[in-house]
Amino acid sequence: MMYIDPHIHMVSRTTDDYKRMALAGCALVSEPAFWAGFDRTGAEGFRDYFRQLTEFEPKRAQLYGIEHASWLCINAKEAENVSLARDVIALIPEFLDRPGVLGIGEIGLNKNTRNEATVFLEHLDLAARTNELILVHTPHLADKLPGTRMILDMLRDDRRIAPERVCVDHVEEHTIRAALEAGHWVGMTLYPITKCTPARAADLVETFGADRIMVNSAGDWGHSDPLAVPEFIFEMTRRGHDPALTRRVVLENPLAFFRQSARFRVPASLAHMHR
Ligand SMILES: [Zn+2]
Repeated sequence: MMYIDPHIHMVSRTTDDYKRMALAGCALVSEPAFWAGFDRTGAEGFRDYFRQLTEFEPKRAQLYGIEHASWLCINAKEAENVSLARDVIALIPEFLDRPGVLGIGEIGLNKNTRNEATVFLEHLDLAARTNELILVHTPHLADKLPGTRMILDMLRDDRRIAPERVCVDHVEEHTIRAALEAGHWVGMTLYPITKCTPARAADLVETFGADRIMVNSAGDWGHSDPLAVPEFIFEMTRRGHDPALTRRVVLENPLAFFRQSARFRVPASLAHMHR
């Protein structure tokens, strides 16, 4: 089954991963800007990173027949440094008209601090002024529920932001309902240990249906699996679900969400899809 991985950090994966993903049916990846595993020393480091995301990585993906899209921001972890964050936010607009850029992300909270919230709101303002889609990272473990509540409140309070133009990512059993009820799209991240497993994601689709739900690997430099979306497809098939239901989650939903960006072009490999 052809699929999209709507959240994966390919800068930290190998070309062998691209090849295995292509063999597994991956047509498109979308790559949010994130923490590199170390704090960068200044905004210029982010300019190079945004060039990597918008120039180098799409070419590398293309070698394997995979389309590459990206999201730009300063991640919640480095956003604790508000003055650095403001310098980075100031340089994002020069990249926003580049092909394949889908919007602002993954913005969000990490430890739910005041500084992180300040920078989150300034990203929302940038997205509202430039009419960009938004991809939101929700925090880990014990910080997830309070952080998700803070994020949903901030999104609701900015009247310029249409809920259907936001994807709230890394939802789990205790946060998915609130994000869906607020009118957002949601992403379930399939991790080998933390976050959601393929089986838990299948349970959630059985519980909530497939409307506005996507799954992703969030593959990065840590313990993660770039083939997590095919694992989900395998789990859904094993449970006897209609392939049309699975296809909505892994293909049609991310396409429908991305199509709200004026710059998004449907990959040639998916051109037969009209929804
Ligand atoms: Zn991520």
